[in-house]
Amino acid sequence: MATERTLAILKPDCVRKELIGTVLARIQDAGFAVRALKMITLSKREAEGFYAVHEDKPFFDELTDFMSSGPCVPVVLEKENAIADFRTLIGATNPDEADEGTIRADFADSISTNIVHGSDSVGNGQKEASYFFAEHEIVANRAA
Ligand code: UDP
Repeated sequence: MATERTLAILKPDCVRKELIGTVLARIQDAGFAVRALKMITLSKREAEGFYAVHEDKPFFDELTDFMSSGPCVPVVLEKENAIADFRTLIGATNPDEADEGTIRADFADSISTNIVHGSDSVGNGQKEASYFFAEHEIVANRAA
């Protein structure tokens, strides 16, 4: 299986609940390597840019208000089969539908405040990582 890159965001609800360490530990324990990480507060416009694919959806304004409501933590992760494995680890968008033991089932309050984002394809993983990080800010995969 190929090593893939995915872009996670620990969303503002995750930061507000002081769950950064807990959620990152779950991610690292599942075998994901952290290649880049920072804490930032998105402007409304930056949140709209990141979620542009959803701009026609009824939840777009609420989503981008929420994503710009406080600090969040974008994280570049690498692992074999990272895209699918990360989405399995976080669970369904709606925490009421997320499998037991997933991050969203355990920590999310609602479909809109659902703790964490994960890229949905290899192409989007690369694109979303570059939304937050220059290539030189992403640590290379090294053996030691
Ligand atoms: N979202 C929402 N209401 C909905 C569907 C989605 O607020 O009915 C938000 C939610 O925060 C979700 C994000 O929009 O994580 C992106 O939606 P998507 O369908 O891409 O879900 P994801 O890939 O994050 O599971």
